[in-house]
This record gives sequence, C-alpha cells and structure tokens, in this order.
Amino acid sequence: MFKETIFSKIINREISVDLVYQDELVTAFRDIEPKAAIHILIIPNTFIPTINHVKSIHEKILGRMITVAAKIAYDEGISKDGYRLIMNCNRHSGQEVYHIHMHLLGGQPLGPLLSI
Ligand code: 5GP
Repeated sequence: MFKETIFSKIINREISVDLVYQDELVTAFRDIEPKAAIHILIIPNTFIPTINHVKSIHEKILGRMITVAAKIAYDEGISKDGYRLIMNCNRHSGQEVYHIHMHLLGGQPLGPLLSI
C-alpha cells in the first residue's frame, strides 16, 4: 500500500540535494523548504513508511538517526544553544513524505512546541 518516495531517490543519489551526511544506515540533507535557520532531515536508508511500521529490527537504525542528529548539531554549531528533533506520523501530525524522517531544527529560538 505504501510506495517508495522521493527520499529513496535521494538516498540513491538519483536526485541531488544538499547532502549533509550519509553512512550505511542513514542519510541527512537540508530540507528544501526550511522552517528554521537550520533544518536538516535525517532518514533511514531502509524504506519504513511511518513510525507505526517500526519494528525491533530497526532499533539500530533509529539509534543511528539520533547519534547522527547530535553529530550534525555539533558540526553546525548549535549543540550548546539547542535544537529540536521532530518525527511526524500520519495525518494528524502533517506527515507529507511516507518514508520516516527526523527533522533537526535550530539556529534560532524555536518558540513553543505546538501551535494547534
Ligand atoms: P513531513 O511533513 O513529512 O514531516 O516533512 C517532509 C519534509 O520533507 C518537508 O519539510 C519538506 O519540505 C521536505 N521535502 C519534501 N520533498 C523534498 C525534497 O525533494 N528535497 C528536500 N531536500 N526536502 C524535501
């Protein structure tokens, strides 16, 4: 039911992006429509449509996403001031791309967590 998305093409370098990091488990690149001074997406190289599809076999990948987020935050110089990590799931969250991804947002004060 879920088909692979444009993020698969980004992982395979079939579409060019502002690539920040890539290893055997994850890929990170700058969001095409940044919502903050720094807005980077960290995604698994494995196709997982939503957080609801995450299984225990993915735990290493999910852990790597966090480790890489912290490394990128350090490299971008935002570790000390802080940043926000967001993962959306399904309609109510506003998930647009059905390949799980972590938003790394920072480089400025981010305001309240939610505006409903
Ligand atoms: P979601 O709303 O699904 O959590 O976030 C999807 C994010 O992917 C959005 O912030 C959107 O701007 C970003 N995005 C969608 N397509 C592309 C693309 O082709 N390239 C890049 N760099 N970002 C994309």
